[in-house]
Amino acid sequence: MALIVSRGADCRSYTVGRVLIRIEVGPLDTPCHVWQGTKLPSGYGHGSYQRRHFLAHRRAWEQAHGEIPAGHQIHHRCERRDCINPDHLELVTPTEHAARHPQGEAS
Ligand SMILES: [Zn+2]
Ligand SMILES: [Zn+2]
Repeated sequence: MALIVSRGADCRSYTVGRVLIRIEVGPLDTPCHVWQGTKLPSGYGHGSYQRRHFLAHRRAWEQAHGEIPAGHQIHHRCERRDCINPDHLELVTPTEHAARHPQGEAS
């Protein structure tokens, strides 16, 4: 099990699936829960558990809501790819997701 223990007052432990991670909790006006583990070159939080790799924000959404239906994506309302706050994550279809990002790259 990946285990990253909270070390500071601005952090707390958080489970993503069965993986306990350490996240920072930002100031109240920036409530993003920023993944502190490995990040992909694309900026998404990334982890592995028993040799199975996962995207942190997808696991965070699943922890809050259950399994992501096939063919769906998770949109970051806050546009921070490394944020795993379930309140900032939205389940969307690829079509809906493209509509959320009329100009920029998906996040
Ligand atoms: Zn966020
Ligand atoms: Zn998005």
